[in-house]
Amino acid sequence: MEFSKLIFEPTVDLKLPPVPVSFIEVVFSDVQKIDLDDPLCTSAPLPFGISPLIQSEVVSGRLLTRGDDVKETFELSLDIKEQFSYLPGDSVGVFPQNPLAEVNQLLKRLGLDEQKNAPIEITVKKGVKKKLPIYLPLVSTPKIILESVLEIRGILKKGFLRSLAEYTTEYKEKRRLLELSSIEGAAEYDKYILQQGLTLSDVLTEIPSCVPPLSLLLEHLPRLMPRAYSIASSPLSCGKRINIVFNLVVTPRGRMGVCSSWLKNKFEDVDDLSKKFEKMGVQDSSPTRTSKTIPLFFRKPSNFRIPTPIDAPLILIGPGTGVAPFIGFIEHVSLQEKYISDGLKDPLLVYFGCRYRNRDHIYKNEMEDFVSRKFISAYRVCYSRDRLQESDPKYVQDLLYADKENVCNLVTKRGAYLFLCGDAKNMAKDVQATLVRILQECTDTTCDVAEKQIIELEKSGKFVKDVWR
Ligand SMILES: Cc1cc2nc3c(=O)[nH]c(=O)nc-3n(C[C@H](O)[C@H](O)[C@H](O)COP(=O)(O)OP(=O)(O)OC[C@H]3O[C@@H](n4cnc5c(N)ncnc54)[C@H](O)[C@@H]3O)c2cc1C
Repeated sequence: MEFSKLIFEPTVDLKLPPVPVSFIEVVFSDVQKIDLDDPLCTSAPLPFGISPLIQSEVVSGRLLTRGDDVKETFELSLDIKEQFSYLPGDSVGVFPQNPLAEVNQLLKRLGLDEQKNAPIEITVKKGVKKKLPIYLPLVSTPKIILESVLEIRGILKKGFLRSLAEYTTEYKEKRRLLELSSIEGAAEYDKYILQQGLTLSDVLTEIPSCVPPLSLLLEHLPRLMPRAYSIASSPLSCGKRINIVFNLVVTPRGRMGVCSSWLKNKFEDVDDLSKKFEKMGVQDSSPTRTSKTIPLFFRKPSNFRIPTPIDAPLILIGPGTGVAPFIGFIEHVSLQEKYISDGLKDPLLVYFGCRYRNRDHIYKNEMEDFVSRKFISAYRVCYSRDRLQESDPKYVQDLLYADKENVCNLVTKRGAYLFLCGDAKNMAKDVQATLVRILQECTDTTCDVAEKQIIELEKSGKFVKDVWR
């Protein structure tokens, strides 16, 4: 691989960052009591958390999509054990584990394969005035650290590469790490580390004589962060259960996302999974891997909540997994006595988009059921790769534009709420631009004024977004 090729002559004097001060000590210990149920060091703050960490259990799961050329989308139903006050549109933070194959590969490379389950104690080196990061457990095992505590695919900072060079014996390999951490090697760093996203495992594969201690990883790799998922169910349907919906993320380098692939594994039946691993000759007695437990916590709610009472029309725009909170919204409405008996006074419109009508049109039956029960007044759907004719709307913004008079009327005259959920990278921007265009054209105003109107709607809580990438 090109990565390990030196690009500067040995005579070039590289401008290097100082070697970061080493401050963590890891010692194997005879401590016997390791709390395997708490590998995450639950006393550490939960980002945006408003609940304690909950060891939820997978009750059931569904694959919502099928066929080629579509993302795999799953729904998991989770038992959260205790009643917790939440509303549809809120989200949970899920603590995943790193992929086992990558963890095992790293353990081998660090020479810790045989001691992977041995207790270790983590302390600050004597005489160093630094504190341990709060998320690090004081007692653990190498495997737990690499599986549950550190983001082993975290971006390799230059200081880390500089430190790795100190643990590299072969001259050319050491020099290569120094090149990457140097000012002169900025373009190489950009190419391999930032653009190609090479991880620690990748670098160690290319630099075989580098054998860093576990303490160095603890000093330089970030915390394995929880991933957020919108709640796709109503507490009125079952207070102690929540549904989440997720796509299996596949990166441009063909790697599966850490959390989404871990959740996908959870979806598969535990016994089935164990049998598969047995057949492959992989043995692992770790109690954390095969269980159906998903550690999660409730995140601080945003204003992405259905208004109570519903006093104006609702326009819900959510292609793909962006539909998740809306399933919860409408289920919530459909379970309330006042709406069951009197129905909704104002229109509720849903805009959904996917690729193919028979592959990834998720929640079709549920939405059509809500339509037939009159909780949804208009359900607009488009298929970007399955249009019957060229003039059919391709994306959700095209559906909105096709309804422009109605959308404009509901927003400007009847005070409608606009909810937008899903992909932040392209979809959210395109939808927002289309809303501006609709206001501009239908109220015969300028683009500037229409843009300001949209910003005002956002400020007043009438245009609410929950977008991610
Ligand atoms: C408030 C909020 C709510 C969310 N709700 C949902 C939800 O209901 N359903 C859902 O599926 N996701 C949701 N997400 C996204 C989710 O939190 C994760 O980011 C996503 O599942 C990917 O995590 P991962 O660990 O599998 O991928 P990672 O291992 O973290 O990422 C792998 C690589 O893919 C890139 N990447 C990350 N996310 C995506 C993505 N979505 N598409 C393409 N590339 C990506 C990253 O840049 C990285 O390079 C939400 C995010 C937020 C902030």
